[in-house]
Amino acid sequence: MNILLLGSGGREHALAWKMAQSDKLTQLFIAPGNAGTSAVGTNVDINPNDFEAVKKLVLDKAIDMIVVGPEEPLVRGIKDFVLNDPEIAKVPVIGPGQKGAQLEGSKEFAKAFMQRHNVPTAGYLSVTSENLEEGIAFLKTMKAPYVLKADGLAAGKGVLILDDLAEAEAELKEMLGGKFGDASSTVVIEEFLSGIELSVFVLTDGHGYVVLPEAKDYKRIGEGDTGLNTGGMGAVSPVPFADDVFMKKVHDRIVVPTVEGLLKDDIPYKGFIFIGLISIDGEPYVIEYNVRMGDPETEVVIPRLKSDLVDLFQAVAAGNLRTKQIEVDERSATTVMCVSGGYPGSYEKGKEITDLEKITEGLVFHAGTTEKDGKVVTAGGRVIALTAYGKDKDDALAQSFKNAQIVKFEGKYFRSDIGFDL
Ligand code: ATP
Repeated sequence: MNILLLGSGGREHALAWKMAQSDKLTQLFIAPGNAGTSAVGTNVDINPNDFEAVKKLVLDKAIDMIVVGPEEPLVRGIKDFVLNDPEIAKVPVIGPGQKGAQLEGSKEFAKAFMQRHNVPTAGYLSVTSENLEEGIAFLKTMKAPYVLKADGLAAGKGVLILDDLAEAEAELKEMLGGKFGDASSTVVIEEFLSGIELSVFVLTDGHGYVVLPEAKDYKRIGEGDTGLNTGGMGAVSPVPFADDVFMKKVHDRIVVPTVEGLLKDDIPYKGFIFIGLISIDGEPYVIEYNVRMGDPETEVVIPRLKSDLVDLFQAVAAGNLRTKQIEVDERSATTVMCVSGGYPGSYEKGKEITDLEKITEGLVFHAGTTEKDGKVVTAGGRVIALTAYGKDKDDALAQSFKNAQIVKFEGKYFRSDIGFDL
């Protein structure tokens, strides 16, 4: 079959790398892709949010399936667009429709969903300018730190965690006043949860599901998890503290009610569910849902999946995922992200990347890279993810760090403490 994968990051390179190994694949197109995806498929320079351009590509290349990497096309309704267009309506899309994508696109929707289906999560109140007074009263009932979240997508910047009540009140007003544009016209105030975070990934056809390996990512730019938030600086899978007992709790209390909740709410859902969790003394709580895979978690989760990913996607499309079981590589996988100097602030692009060929062990997943005049150059903040396998996380990390040293580009930075807290 011919598959079109939308996106251009390390996540998409890992998905493309995996799909390219399937006997079921004929041609793989990636839109727009990066310098890494072009080695395993054909890059096509279109914007995944330009649905008419996607449609044209589907027709031109006789695409049999669309796999959506990032959240934006999903939240904007690419699935509904395809379903409602008679010329391409039969082409399955791996990713939810606009309603299901609200699990990520609206934090208020996600919290109400969790409450309705008894999924353990932090207590909350949803506030607009209509009930600001109630919001302030709610804040006063809470202890510091105070968690304020813009309801809509805010490029990962819409969550504020504040130590001071007066500051939290002021921020609440600013957010409702448009600090994050429309995204913060509703604000979710949440109880602060203290524990250790990890993520669990589910692939579902709306009825059946498979639980993929869990992972832990490292969001901050600085060692010891300090400094500004980034898209993610590295990841580890499996997560040592997520033992069988913990994962059974996650399955029974979170995965099952989530999939059943979608069914009860009449939300057809074929795609990935990324469940951001926090473990409080061994008890799992949901921090967030995302409606796609994580990046850089995909760069460790997908390499541990031994099963054929195209076969799983076909089962999702056909609605018979229930009949499938997955096989997982018992080894640890880790990834270390090399980023551009200055990221997550301003940084320069177009720096030549060299010495990739000197990496002989492990996997190289491109993120912000492109080809220019026959050279591979930087094209984003997060540039390249160095994934390695090992008998345990320390063994794998030693190889990821070694490879991160080998890659060369001006201004390169990576965190040398990924996995430090495990
Ligand atoms: P992301 O960029 O991870 O998608 P997001 O903008 O969707 O983030 P959340 O994941 O809900 O927002 O929150 C971002 C981070 O803030 C979480 O990963 C977690 O570290 C922290 N956080 C969120 N909610 C809480 C909470 N209730 N208690 C403690 N920390 C929290």
